[in-house]
Amino acid sequence: MAGRIRADDVATVKERSAIDDVIREHVTLRPAGPGTFKGLCPFHDEKTPSFNVRPANGTYKCFGCGEGGDVISFVTKVEHLTFTEAVERLAAKLGMELRYEDGGPRTSGDGLGLGRRSRLVEAHRAAEEFYTDALLQRPDARIGREFLRARGFGSEHVRLFGVGYAPRGGEELTRFLRGKGFSDDELTLGGLSGRGSRGAYDRFRGRLVWPIRDITGDPIGFGARRLFDDDPMQAKYLNTSETPIYKKSTVLYGLDLAKKSISSDRRAVVVEGYTDVMAAHLSGIPEAVATCGTAFGVDHIKTLRRILRDEAEQAPARVVFTFDGDAAGQAAAMKAFKEDQRWASQSFVAVAADGMDPCELRQAKGEAAVRALVEDAVPMFEFAVRTTINRFDLGTAEGRVQAMKAAAPIVHDIRDAALRPEYIRTVAGWLGVEVDQMREAVRRAPTPAAPSTGAAAASRAGAPRPDGSEPVPEPTGAELAGALPPPNLRDPVVHAERQLLQALLQYPDLFPVGAVDELDPDAFGAPAHRAVFDGIRAAGGPDASRSTRAWTDAVMSAAPLAVHSLVADLAVAPLPTRMDKLTGRPERRYVDALLARVHEVTLARQVADAMSAMRRLGSDPDADPTVTRNLAARLQDLQRQQAALREEGA
Ligand code: ZN
Repeated sequence: MAGRIRADDVATVKERSAIDDVIREHVTLRPAGPGTFKGLCPFHDEKTPSFNVRPANGTYKCFGCGEGGDVISFVTKVEHLTFTEAVERLAAKLGMELRYEDGGPRTSGDGLGLGRRSRLVEAHRAAEEFYTDALLQRPDARIGREFLRARGFGSEHVRLFGVGYAPRGGEELTRFLRGKGFSDDELTLGGLSGRGSRGAYDRFRGRLVWPIRDITGDPIGFGARRLFDDDPMQAKYLNTSETPIYKKSTVLYGLDLAKKSISSDRRAVVVEGYTDVMAAHLSGIPEAVATCGTAFGVDHIKTLRRILRDEAEQAPARVVFTFDGDAAGQAAAMKAFKEDQRWASQSFVAVAADGMDPCELRQAKGEAAVRALVEDAVPMFEFAVRTTINRFDLGTAEGRVQAMKAAAPIVHDIRDAALRPEYIRTVAGWLGVEVDQMREAVRRAPTPAAPSTGAAAASRAGAPRPDGSEPVPEPTGAELAGALPPPNLRDPVVHAERQLLQALLQYPDLFPVGAVDELDPDAFGAPAHRAVFDGIRAAGGPDASRSTRAWTDAVMSAAPLAVHSLVADLAVAPLPTRMDKLTGRPERRYVDALLARVHEVTLARQVADAMSAMRRLGSDPDADPTVTRNLAARLQDLQRQQAALREEGA
């Protein structure tokens, strides 16, 4: 971790940065008298310019809203960066090397040499260009263009959002970037390429890709959607895994485009996917962002707060979540609600009546319908109560009493005691019960509930819960399905699965980037193992940047309740392998062998499937010869992979 930047370096950065040039990246300036420029203020909404810049003094001042300062404070405010980040950013533009007080190595805030960070960003910029050109020009990218056209996006939108196509070849991007002077090490470090037995290969193949940018607009990762039915990667979306410049827990897709509106309107809209962000922006909701392959969490809250200028003395900013009907998104919102009351009080939920997401809504009913969806959002509190009471039949007295009992803890949890009576009246109205009855139910509500996902998540987030109460958690599908059969550890395949999960939980840093995305979840034979693995994926894959404890907690909260004790066990049980004498950790070879074992199981299943399909085609006199040929080629390919894997193992 770098220390404070040396004061004389800060002074040099300030001196050498031309404030008018820096401001011109954001504001159009016109001369206004000797040594002064004027423009529209980026910090408040105005039609006549009252934002003044004096390059000779290195200062700016807005006479409309009072903002003012030097070049560093300008970058801090307009880019929503910390002081150190702002100085580093200006220094990088000047090509200046910074020195730090602790005499430590010259690193940027993320611990990378400045040179290296900008190399990785440059590689992403080149990749984005390659992908976009491929999408617009290549005949084999037609499937991608059709995917977008079917959702109402044309080539102008492709350019606007930088959407692209990753060819299926396997090495085309890697070769292209090598040609631009990037090394295989840089490409694998940045998550653009993976490394296999035959060298570097493209991380994303045969997919539609969206560049994910940091808040300043630098591309730092990609999200990739499955297009082909025979894509060997089952996951509908693959995202860049954790890299030195890509932190999935904080990154929000579309934030670079949205931050200005989020800041000026003090409203953010959180949608669920890349196409939803596109649809929202095109429909006149420029504050739309989406998480990238992870649930919305506390780090995202922090990121948004900085932009919303969510300060105590101001009126609360608003955050609107749109959910399609699916339970996962709703569960995530409920979790945020439990973790952070202040956040909950300013959160709103928009669910389209027919369960459509913003992209579908724009297609079916037009852009006005998307705007109406966001405008009609209801408070998170109301959403939480209504989802809870909807599980009961309010047509019967029995159902109403049960619903009242289930809703009471949510009302009880409202910390603002002044608001509670009003909420009690409101909820009593929804339920059709007497206000006194409801008040009594709320008074009795803090029954110490059994430990559950909700309580665990809240205590992990450090949210104080003095009365020990908790709202009724929404059960997930797996929880409703009940306990899973215990894995049969006599089966050597199941035993290997267990070891792989143990290693993933205990030594996440031993796994190469993208290793988890490349595993087929169906390869896990034991349902409980499969559930844990799904939790690992939902938590974002092995993450060396978190402590082992934080990583286990993340998996725990992403996995169904039924396997929590299994996760706890896997996280501590000793691995049945010899540890490296120097490090006291398992050898990399061991991890590779476990991965290979699971790949082997997947391949064996795929071969069996392909052979059975061949047999079906063989007995069909009308079979299309092209289909048969393709299938035979696929079977051959799979068998080659099997042979290669056996060779590697030997
Ligand atoms: Zn102003």
